[in-house]
Amino acid sequence: MHPDDLIERHFRLIPAQKAALKRLKLGTIRNLLYHFPSRYEAAGTSGEAARLIPGTKVTLIGSLSGLKPRKLWKSKRNVTEGWFEDTSGRVKVMWFNQPYIASYLPKAGTVKISGTVGGNVERPYIANPEVEVMPAGVATEGLFSDTNNPKSEVRSSVFAVYPESRGVTSKWFYHALERVFARPVRNRAHAQARPEGALGRAISNGASNVLQVLDDPIPKEVRERYHLPDLARSLLAMHKPKNQRETEAARKRFAFEEIFALQLTRAQERAENDAQASFPITDSEEHAERFLETIPFPPTKAQKRAIADILADFGRSHPMARLLEGDVGSGKTLVAAATAYAVVNSRPPLKLASGEFARLPDGSVANRTSGTLQVAYMAPTEILAGQHFQSFIEYFSHLPINIALLTGKVCKKFPSKVSRGEATNISRAQLLKWVENGEIAMIVGTHALIQKSVAFQHLAYVIVDEQHRFGTRQRRALAHKGDASPHFLSMTATPIPRTLSLTIYGDLDISLLDELPPGRVMVKTAIVKSGERDIAYEAVRRELSQGRQAYIICPRIEEPDPSKWNALQAKSVKTEAKRLKKEVFQEFEIGLLHGAMKPKEKDDAMSRFTSGETQILVATSVVEVGVNVPNATIILIEGAERFGLAQLHQLRGRVQRSTHTPFCFLLPETSGAAAAKRLRALEKTNDGFKLAEADLEARGAGDLYGRQQWGVTDLGMEALKNVKLIRAAREEAERLIQTDVTLSTYPTLRERVERASAESHRE
Ligand code: ADP
Ligand code: MG
Repeated sequence: MHPDDLIERHFRLIPAQKAALKRLKLGTIRNLLYHFPSRYEAAGTSGEAARLIPGTKVTLIGSLSGLKPRKLWKSKRNVTEGWFEDTSGRVKVMWFNQPYIASYLPKAGTVKISGTVGGNVERPYIANPEVEVMPAGVATEGLFSDTNNPKSEVRSSVFAVYPESRGVTSKWFYHALERVFARPVRNRAHAQARPEGALGRAISNGASNVLQVLDDPIPKEVRERYHLPDLARSLLAMHKPKNQRETEAARKRFAFEEIFALQLTRAQERAENDAQASFPITDSEEHAERFLETIPFPPTKAQKRAIADILADFGRSHPMARLLEGDVGSGKTLVAAATAYAVVNSRPPLKLASGEFARLPDGSVANRTSGTLQVAYMAPTEILAGQHFQSFIEYFSHLPINIALLTGKVCKKFPSKVSRGEATNISRAQLLKWVENGEIAMIVGTHALIQKSVAFQHLAYVIVDEQHRFGTRQRRALAHKGDASPHFLSMTATPIPRTLSLTIYGDLDISLLDELPPGRVMVKTAIVKSGERDIAYEAVRRELSQGRQAYIICPRIEEPDPSKWNALQAKSVKTEAKRLKKEVFQEFEIGLLHGAMKPKEKDDAMSRFTSGETQILVATSVVEVGVNVPNATIILIEGAERFGLAQLHQLRGRVQRSTHTPFCFLLPETSGAAAAKRLRALEKTNDGFKLAEADLEARGAGDLYGRQQWGVTDLGMEALKNVKLIRAAREEAERLIQTDVTLSTYPTLRERVERASAESHRE
C-alpha cells in the first residue's frame, strides 16, 4: 500500500460507497488519512442510545433532532420532545416546563446528554437530561482514560467517529483506517524514512507501514519552532487517539498545515505579482489632490489614508495588489475615483522597439505627449455598473477624457459627440475599437469586461468592486489584459475577521476604511417578537406614505444542495409577497427579487424598484451587495436569527443611503433568548468588523463565509480563531517564499501547496 494508491485498489467497494467517497472527494489512501474524525466516543464509559437500561444513569454523545414544544392535554404542562441519536440508534428525549428549551438547543452538531433512563426496555426515554454542546471534533475531557499519562503506549478505549455521507458509514472509515495502518507498504525502498523517536518502533513492531513512507510537508525546523508533532505521530493521534493532549496537538498541527499551505499559495501569487513590471504613473499625488478639491466635502481621515496607500503603491516598480475593505457607505467609490483620476491624467510611457520602456537620462520612464493610461472598473451587476458609470461621469465630466460603460446588454460612451454633457449608446464593435486604440480612458462594466474580445491599449489600473463575487481566475483574467501588468485594487464591504483576511487575502495588501463620513444617521434597529409584527408593518406603512420605499427580506433557508436552495428561496419569496399583497399592503406595489431569477429579470426588478414603480421589494439576501436606492429607508428581515450578524449588518446598510432616518426591524422566527441576545449586538453597534468578530466567536467561521468558496476545511476554519497560529503561518510562509519561491528544496511541501492551490481556485 502506498499513500498515492487509489482507495479502490485496496478496498472492495460497492457502488454506493464509491459514490459516497467521490462525493467526499476521497480518492487516494492519502485522502483517507486526511479524512479526520469529527469527534470521539468512549466505548464502555458512556452508553449507546440503542442499548439503554431503564433506571440507570447514562451519558450519550450524538445529536438532537425534531425538538418541538407542546402542551400536555390534562395537566396543561409544557413539554418539549424530540430525538437523540448516536451511531447505535436513537432514544426519545423530553423536557418538562421549559417551553423555550428548543430554541437554545443546537439543531445540528454534536451534544453530550446525561440523565436517567426512564420507560421500559422496549420504549426507553430520558427526561430532563443535561445537555452540553460539544465543539466540533474536540475530544471531551474525561473520555480519555489516561489523560494524565501521555507517555502511556496503551491506546485508550476512545474511538474515532467520522463524518459520514450517504453510502459510507463512520464504521467503514474506522475499519478502513485500521487496515491502512496495519498494511505493509508496497515498496520497501520507500521505507527508509522512519518516523522520529520511539513512535517508529511503536507503530511498526518491526514491519513497515504507510505512515513510514509519508513525508511530512511541514519542514522540520518550522515544526520545531512551534512544537508541532510530526505527520506520522499526528495521524495516529487523530485516528487512533491515545490521550487528549496528543490529539489536540495533532489537530493544531493539521490546522497549521492547512493554513500554512494556503498562505504559501498566496505568498507565491504575491511573489509572482511583484516580479512583474507596472505602468509608471506620473505626478499622481498632485492629480489626486486636485481631484479632491473638486469634491463638495472633505475626505475622511480613513479615505485619505487609503488614497495615500494606493498612490505609494503607484510609485513602486511592480503592480499594486491591494484590498480596500470598508463598511457599507464608508466611501470606497471616492477612493477609487481619486486614484483613477491620477491614472487617467497620466501619459502612457514611450516604448522602444524592443518592447521596453524608453528612459530619460535620469533613469525615469519617458512619456508620450498624447493619450492617457486606462482604468477599468468592474462591478458585480448591471445595475451597479450603471450606477458607477453615472458617478464617474459626475466626477470626471470636466476632464477631456472618454468614459464608457460595457455590460452584457449596454454599450455607452460619455461624452456624446452630439450633445456634450450626455452619454450615448454606441455599438459594441465601436466601443471595443476605442478601448483597444486607447481613446477611452475609463471603462466601467460587468463581467463583460473580461471577455476575450475586450483588448486595451494601456490598461494601467483595474478596480474590482465587491470582489468576493468574483473568483480569483476572473480577477486574474482582467489583470492580464494589458502588455504591462495593471495595478489592482479590490474593494469589499464584507466585513471579515482579521484572521480570515490575513489568510484568504494573503496575496493582497489591505487598506481599511474604518470610519464613516460625518453626519451619517445610524440605522435604528429593533428586534420585534413574532406576535408583534404589526409594529413593523405600521412602520413600513408610515415610511411608504411619506414616499419612501421598503425592503422585506425572507429568511435564509438551510439546504445542503445549492440548486434546491435557490428554488426553495424563490418559493418563500413568492409566497411571502403574495401574502403581504393580500393581507397587509393591499394599497402598495410589491416587487420580487431572488437568486433563481435570470440576470435580466433581476435587473428589471431592480430598475422598477429604483424608479419607484414598486414600493416594496420582497427579496432574499441577494440585495446585500452594493445596491443603492437612496429612497429606501426601512428594511424588515424575517428569520433574522438565521443570518450572521455581519450579513444582517450588510442588509441594513441598504437603507443607510441618505439623510432620512433609516429603520431596520429584525423578526426572529424563534423566541429563544440566545438568538435575541446575539441579535442585540446589532442594536448596540454599527461597526461591521466588530460584528464579524462576534460572529466568528458565536458561530464559527465555516457557518458564515461558505468555507467551500475558500477551500478551507472545518479544521482550518476553527484555526481562524487563533490569531497567533495565523500570524505564525503567515510569517513562516513569507520567509520560505522569500528564499525559495518554487519551494524546490521542499518537494513534499510543494506538492501539498499545489493541492491547496487547486482547492482554493476551484471557484
Ligand atoms: P461604499 O463604500 O459603500 O461604496 P459609497 O462610495 O457608495 O460607499 O459612498 C456612499 C455615499 O457617501 C456616497 O453618496 C458618497 O458621495 C458619500 N461620501 C463619500 N465620501 C464622503 C465624505 N468624505 N464625506 C461625505 N460624504 C461622502
Ligand atoms: Mg460601493
